[in-house]
Amino acid sequence: MLSHVEITARVELSQAAHFGWSNKVEFSHDCFVCRRTGRTVTLHHGASHGLCHSSRQPLEWQDEQAGTGSHPAPIRITGFDVAGGATGKTLRCRVSFWWSPFTDLQRPQAQVGELGAGPWARLHYRVGCHACRDAGEADWFNGEQSLQTNTVLPVVRPCTRCGTDLVTMPGAPEITLVG
Ligand SMILES: [Zn+2]
Ligand SMILES: [Zn+2]
Repeated sequence: MLSHVEITARVELSQAAHFGWSNKVEFSHDCFVCRRTGRTVTLHHGASHGLCHSSRQPLEWQDEQAGTGSHPAPIRITGFDVAGGATGKTLRCRVSFWWSPFTDLQRPQAQVGELGAGPWARLHYRVGCHACRDAGEADWFNGEQSLQTNTVLPVVRPCTRCGTDLVTMPGAPEITLVG
């Protein structure tokens, strides 16, 4: 059956922040393809499928895949809405996937579900610092960083160069199963 999950995250931005969500999202997933619970799938907005990977591969699968540790999975981003302005940005990301109940190959007692036992997500973004830019620093861009659900809140991310606060995540991203 086709299932949908919505991940919603909000960040507050300081005046110095130059911010943009990246198109990359990582998501916990009970994967019926490799029949393992709590896998991490990497998703890119615009990609036609996701990539399931983990070091906890079942041996059978490792043999088949010659130890690559990952496989294509029928899961992808079908909605990617960014809202907000200079003081804050919200990302609402819809993830759609084909799913079917299964038994975990290594932990047969594990509870299996469309959302998994402890759903989490890691959202990527790129950030730059206007304070550094205005000071004429060539490397004012901080590059790609990430925020995730299972973290100590609030998360405050200062500029890696000058220490000015740039990004604050006041609350954990919400992950909900939607119809
Ligand atoms: Zn998998
Ligand atoms: Zn700075």
